Amino acid sequence: MDRIEKLITEYTRKGQLDKANFLKNLDKVLLPSTIQRIQQNDKTVLKEIVLPKWVDWELLYEWANSKKIKNGRTCILCNESSETGIDFKSKFICDNCFLRLKNLNQ
Ligand SMILES: [Zn+2]
Repeated sequence: MDRIEKLITEYTRKGQLDKANFLKNLDKVLLPSTIQRIQQNDKTVLKEIVLPKWVDWELLYEWANSKKIKNGRTCILCNESSETGIDFKSKFICDNCFLRLKNLNQ
């Protein structure tokens, strides 16, 4: 579990649901291009977005980079994003699903 997930769990446990929900929904609020700039440590983003006071750059930066793995392509089978997988008839299948299919065929 990364720090962001830990924070979400902690906020939920403390009943600070607004904070937990904020972190959970952050990727729906921010544009992918904005998230990319945060990943690149581009602090000019702060002038364009409104954040609650308890969110500092370090947290935002960590959050954005924890999303990085999910910036891959969307698998047609499980709908999850993955950076590794195969192209099958010009559709993308992630490693997990590919391995599962392979095991089924054995
Ligand atoms: Zn998949």
